[in-house]
Amino acid sequence: MVIEIIAEGEPIGMQSRILLFDIDGTLLSTGGAGQIAMEQALAAEFDVPMPMDNIPTAGRTDRGIENDVFSRYGIEISDANRQRFMEGYLQRLPDCLSQLDGGLLPGVPQLLQSLSQRSDVYLSLLTGNYQRGAWTKLKYFGIDGFFTEGAFGDLHADRDDLARVAMDLMSERMQRVVAGSEIIVIGDTPADIRCARAIGATVVAVATGIYSAEQLQERQPDLLLTDFRDTERVVSGLLNV
Ligand SMILES: [Mg+2]
Repeated sequence: MVIEIIAEGEPIGMQSRILLFDIDGTLLSTGGAGQIAMEQALAAEFDVPMPMDNIPTAGRTDRGIENDVFSRYGIEISDANRQRFMEGYLQRLPDCLSQLDGGLLPGVPQLLQSLSQRSDVYLSLLTGNYQRGAWTKLKYFGIDGFFTEGAFGDLHADRDDLARVAMDLMSERMQRVVAGSEIIVIGDTPADIRCARAIGATVVAVATGIYSAEQLQERQPDLLLTDFRDTERVVSGLLNV
């Protein structure tokens, strides 16, 4: 009898590139569903009937947003309250997604399809979303199948710390020490660019979120894209940056 041993998580070669995708503003837009679900959760669970317009969310982690909201509105920062807020948000997110006019950003399905067929790239996530929120959004828009894991915003308030988590996760996944230089962070905000620098990664910025190409260019990403429309050009850019 021949017993085949298949290693979990086949190691990829040194020439391979690890692509860490942000979600909101990079792969998809929820049309504001995420923020509205948070506002509804705050109103229902903590009696804080206010819009969150005065709290920045782009490029932030959900943990960081949570900290800001709690301290601004005098909600005690405790594990119980964190849990209550997150559950309230996750409960409302699916309805908000279906009520708002979100969608995948231009070229995203084609790009993920093309990248997933290559053996020299590995796709993962580096997102400020709570883990369950991230999967809810990816599933809702039908692109969850391109990813198996990632670094999520439940863990840290600071995106730079999340990037370090992602790097450790990739080392674990590849069963060797992964260097920052093998990683490309892809995101739509200055915070994505900064967190890539924190781990010595290459960074590709895409101007499909709230920041313009000019604003992103000021932070000097290694590559700046207006969007992902031209699949061939984007793939070539990602592989040669
Ligand atoms: Mg984003």
